[in-house]
Amino acid sequence: MSKNKYAVNERGYYGRFGGAYIPELLRANVDELRENYLKIINSEQFKKDYKRLLDNYVGRPTPLTKVGNLSKRYGTNIYLKREDLTHTGAHKINNTIGQILIAKYMGKNRIIAETGAGQHGVATATVCALFGLECIVYMGALDIERQAPNVARMKMLGAKVVPAISGNQTLKDATNEAIRDWIANPNSFYLIGSVVGPHPYPDMVTRLQSIISKEIREQLTIETGNPNPDYVIACVGGGSNAAGAFYHYLDEEDVKLVAVEASGLGVNSGETAATITIGDVGFIHGSKTMLMQDEDGQITEPYSISAGLDYPGVGPLHAHLAETGRAQFLSVTDQEALDAAMILAQSEGIIPALESAHALAALEQIRFDKDDVVVVNLSGRGDKDMETYMKEINNL
Ligand SMILES: *Cc1c(COP(=O)(O)O)cnc(C)c1O
Repeated sequence: MSKNKYAVNERGYYGRFGGAYIPELLRANVDELRENYLKIINSEQFKKDYKRLLDNYVGRPTPLTKVGNLSKRYGTNIYLKREDLTHTGAHKINNTIGQILIAKYMGKNRIIAETGAGQHGVATATVCALFGLECIVYMGALDIERQAPNVARMKMLGAKVVPAISGNQTLKDATNEAIRDWIANPNSFYLIGSVVGPHPYPDMVTRLQSIISKEIREQLTIETGNPNPDYVIACVGGGSNAAGAFYHYLDEEDVKLVAVEASGLGVNSGETAATITIGDVGFIHGSKTMLMQDEDGQITEPYSISAGLDYPGVGPLHAHLAETGRAQFLSVTDQEALDAAMILAQSEGIIPALESAHALAALEQIRFDKDDVVVVNLSGRGDKDMETYMKEINNL
């Protein structure tokens, strides 16, 4: 159907990854979404509504900033795609704005989401407030304790935060609760926060985030006369900001795509989230993909200093990009990310999110040419991470 060699096929697969491995009771809900999402996304009305909201609410297009001091440091030409300057301070809003429109077009009046660190919960609560829709966010009881500021944000925005008290009381348990709710309430819309989950979610979220690479192409054309950079670098938790930054370059094989995972305390430390590096094939969140698991196939608890990268799987598109070699996967430790955040703050006056700092740390691992054009997707701003940064500063 698509000329794009890395696009999802009609059955929801990227190579051997993807699909929709879901309980039979969920089938009708997922089918309804699959049958409607492309029709809606491709409609003139959606395009108009989505663009108006991106322009006037989210604050797009976001700038593409050439960072001179950082360029000098690495002996090349570095541009930052400034998702940190969006409303709510990260790329997640591109997706929630798009999905809430799809929900509205499908006549759904109640939104369900699950969240780990709370960032997707906040982005969902934001758009539900804007559209006046009921918002139920499932969150592990332990995560609720750990992420008090985001819980307060969601509540202030009018969302109901429901604790998941089974299992480890973290993200996986919240997902189970959200799925149970969706089965019981088929007229609700399940709003997923990354390029994960059963087909069509990975493709739908990728398309909604692809505004990032669409803008990069336009901005680079003006800046350099060429829409294509030599490198696009992005961090990967579930993989949505990377999918959006890569999307319009997937078939441009001369553009090198670099995905950066969080290795936590080190890839072999047992305290890591470097899924592609140490994981293998399995099933998580309704799709066949790469994930971290033990010998019995139990999903292992991930670890990263950055809450947004602390996920044991990766979207099926990324599993495919890794397997085909289309994208290079690097990993960055907590400490390397902290160092990169300090470097950006002190050389450019920009405090990045800890997640985005992982993408910046990858600059240390690549040898660039002086004529290269390098785009780093700055997925979010660092305000939410100040407590972590303060500990680092006190150690200086
Ligand atoms: C959530 C988050 C991420 C990780 O999610 P992806 O789906 O991999 O993009 C990265 N950066 C920021 C700022 C985030 O909030």
